Amino acid sequence: MSKPTPTKSHGRLSISASLKPRDLMEETPRLKGAWTAKIITLFPEAFPGVLGASLTGKALQEGLWALETIDLRPFGEGKHRNVDDTPAGGGAGMVLRADVVGKALDMAARGTPADRARWPMVYLSPRGKPFTQAKAARWAQADGMTLLCGRFEGVDQRVLDEYEIEEVSLGDFVLTGGEIAAQAMIDATVRLLPEVLGNAASTEEESFSDGLLEHPQYTRPADWKGRKIPDVLMSGHHGEIAKWRKEMSEALTKERRPDLWAAAGKPGEEEKA
Ligand code: SAH
Repeated sequence: MSKPTPTKSHGRLSISASLKPRDLMEETPRLKGAWTAKIITLFPEAFPGVLGASLTGKALQEGLWALETIDLRPFGEGKHRNVDDTPAGGGAGMVLRADVVGKALDMAARGTPADRARWPMVYLSPRGKPFTQAKAARWAQADGMTLLCGRFEGVDQRVLDEYEIEEVSLGDFVLTGGEIAAQAMIDATVRLLPEVLGNAASTEEESFSDGLLEHPQYTRPADWKGRKIPDVLMSGHHGEIAKWRKEMSEALTKERRPDLWAAAGKPGEEEKA
């Protein structure tokens, strides 16, 4: 059968090439304990993409996490493996069929816990709740997750209802497909896995972890095009440095993100300013 291979693993957990496509449909061998992202997509070649670079890529190679793509196309109907159809009620574009997406979701569900806290199931969607650092932290606590990437006008609502899939948005803009959003969310999640970043302290201090934006950063040279690093950072006075960083962090948040400032419970200070 010339049917394309529906799943592909990346990194150290790759499936042996000697396995026949049919075997790949069966439970995929995975290292016990490695956080795994299963991605349902019409474009498996888009993965690992940027996740294969730098820290996330190294961690993928080392088996600290795993990536498995499930190609939606082989689940399509008929000779042409159609995955989409025109929207009920009319209108522009095409909608991914519930029956086709459902089969891919069934396959993704194999060997994964039914408990959504242990294995979140997410549809990347501009209509979803906004993705946040807090969500990344929660997902990093799970065993892994399944991400459904939409294309065209999106997916049939019934499949989202049937599988109790959470819709999550990368932001208030419309992408062509869910793949970039999936990579962004996986990146944010994977770097919170213990051992992946190597330096846990750096994730504790950065933007959003305390509800505020991070202070500006500087490094050598001390003088560049006449622009000097703020004196306080060169003073070696840790107390003063911490105070300066806190002030900058608060000022930036207040100015750029009044929503975060209010959520941090500090709006009263705005009146003083
Ligand atoms: N008609 C839809 C947009 C479809 S865009 C609407 O108006 O809501 C095609 C696909 O891209 C979606 O199915 C989704 O998977 C993905 N996508 C687009 N924008 C996104 C965003 N901001 N966040 C996450 N996924 C997004």
